[in-house]
Amino acid sequence: MLENDIGLRLGFFFGVLATVVLWEHARPKRSLHIKRRIRWFSNLSLVGISSITVRLILPFTAAGVALYAEQHRIGLLHLLSVPFIVNVILSVLLLDLLIYAQHVTFHYLPLFWRLHKVHHIDQDIDVTTGVRFHPLEIILSTLIKCAVVILLGMPVIAVVIFEILLNASSMFNHGNISLSEKLDRWLRLIVVTPDMHRVHHSIIKEENNSNFGFNLPVWDRVFGTYKAQPEKGHLQMEIGLKEYGDVSRTALMELLLIPFRKNVKRIIL
Ligand SMILES: [Zn+2]
Repeated sequence: MLENDIGLRLGFFFGVLATVVLWEHARPKRSLHIKRRIRWFSNLSLVGISSITVRLILPFTAAGVALYAEQHRIGLLHLLSVPFIVNVILSVLLLDLLIYAQHVTFHYLPLFWRLHKVHHIDQDIDVTTGVRFHPLEIILSTLIKCAVVILLGMPVIAVVIFEILLNASSMFNHGNISLSEKLDRWLRLIVVTPDMHRVHHSIIKEENNSNFGFNLPVWDRVFGTYKAQPEKGHLQMEIGLKEYGDVSRTALMELLLIPFRKNVKRIIL
């Protein structure tokens, strides 16, 4: 399976990307403010740069670390004598909880926020926002994931399933897609929907610090960070960060350099 790893990931990536792009075209939610080709060039270049950088810099992947743990029977999950399938489900759930906790941390620790804000200064939100992360954020989150994978001894299949799921759900929940209110209400009981995640991209700080989940909405509800709807409504709400309202910040080089620029004071609305 590890041999087909890259093909499988690329297949899902382009498949989900194409599906959401077509969906956005057929049923858009909001009208976008910045020219699509400018944002798409930056956002898609960033995902390419991040994917290549993480492979070049880190001598291991989370799946590779899981394989090592499996072969050497390292990790706490090996102490539980539960069926393999239970182990896989438990690992996927724990990885989702980890990504929720990590996302909260990236918002509250100033050093981490420097990296994560590259994702948030996008003044429009669509499928490409879902893959727009600074390479250093991807490296850092891969290291955190690898540490947890080896500590718990998660199965390789669980890691691969989770990473493909996370990539797909991130593109779906950033999608500029219009779902009926009724469908959204039901769907958000089991998965983070575009309407639920859009609240997290509001320029209002209280809304920006809510709905941190990527796959399962349950963590936000359990830990009290759930916000059902944006104050101004989905069509009127402003997206991005007030202190980075300048359109020139969309250029690829600027996105790469933002973490190293003098910290702009966060405007609290
Ligand atoms: Zn965020």
